[in-house]
Amino acid sequence: MSLQVIDNATCTFCGCVCDDIQLHYDETRIHKANKACVLGTAWFLNHTVEHKYPDALIDGKKASLDDAIELAATLLHEADMPLVYGMSNTTCEAQKECAALADQLGGLLDSHTSL
Ligand code: SF4
Repeated sequence: MSLQVIDNATCTFCGCVCDDIQLHYDETRIHKANKACVLGTAWFLNHTVEHKYPDALIDGKKASLDDAIELAATLLHEADMPLVYGMSNTTCEAQKECAALADQLGGLLDSHTSL
């Protein structure tokens, strides 16, 4: 299999915006992301993963978005100290909403970069 190479690709996953990534790809997917950290590598190599899942899951089974939102709200309301976590590849506006949600719930806020 012959792979093509892109030099100096930019990773937008965590916000550091590393711009020296070397990507090896074919017509289907990216196979290697040289110089990317473990998070960036996972992000580049799994771009196709989102096509395998429906919009919402409850207990691993396909669910409507409305049912998933209602269950999430119930779980968050009942939680003692919910953790609002992630926010990679997310807009500043969405991060602002996450901070407000954690604040309103009396919970914790953390990004994946704590890994
Ligand atoms: S996830 Fe890793 S490679 Fe990507 S921008 Fe952040 S530090 Fe750089």
